[in-house]
Amino acid sequence: MASIQTSLRVLVIEDETASRLAIVRALRESQHTAFEAADGVAGLEIAKTEPLDAVVLDLMLPRMDGIRLLTELRRTSRVPVIVVSARRTEDDRVEALDLGADDYLTKPFTVRELLARLRAVVRRTEADTASAITLGDIVIDFSAKTVCRNATRIPLTATEFEMLTALARHRGEVVPRDVLERAIRQDGSAHVSNVVDVIILRLRRKLGRELIATRRGQGFIIELQDGRG
Ligand code: CA
Repeated sequence: MASIQTSLRVLVIEDETASRLAIVRALRESQHTAFEAADGVAGLEIAKTEPLDAVVLDLMLPRMDGIRLLTELRRTSRVPVIVVSARRTEDDRVEALDLGADDYLTKPFTVRELLARLRAVVRRTEADTASAITLGDIVIDFSAKTVCRNATRIPLTATEFEMLTALARHRGEVVPRDVLERAIRQDGSAHVSNVVDVIILRLRRKLGRELIATRRGQGFIIELQDGRG
């Protein structure tokens, strides 16, 4: 398969040697530049000194665990981080995501899946810095916080806009329900159990039924558009 992806600079922080080497080898075979660290202190040092496109971070690490490393890193850096861990509870996933991880992969995973996730977080980060996203005939302007179709403004509530933003920035990926809930729950207040469904329904009414697809049991997705966007 031909790749138009530019070469990425990726740091792999993982103390299990076989696993780390497998990831590093796969990255290099895909023409990426791989840096590696076998403990948290060494990993944080590299993360702070090398310009990176992404970090693959194990949670259970000697010298400094992944959660603490992520907390430290986020004080100064927005580099995309994919947490990989054998810890598979929802609490672990939510904690890592709340601390600023961009994705979470439960071990065991295939290197192929990790590479796909890496491309996705890097693409998303590029979209994060974009001031607007075009989805077919809909333009979402993040700085003006407006949504237009064919240059006609479509009024959205703040909550609707936040959820649309979360879906649009992750377009081409299924966004889990809990991620959407956190995107619209700004103050930690108790949430209504079907709030996500209610807002999805309102967005479909305003923007068209076909924009947001439901993946039952997984979440919601804005499919990548052909051609543009
Ligand atoms: Ca480990």
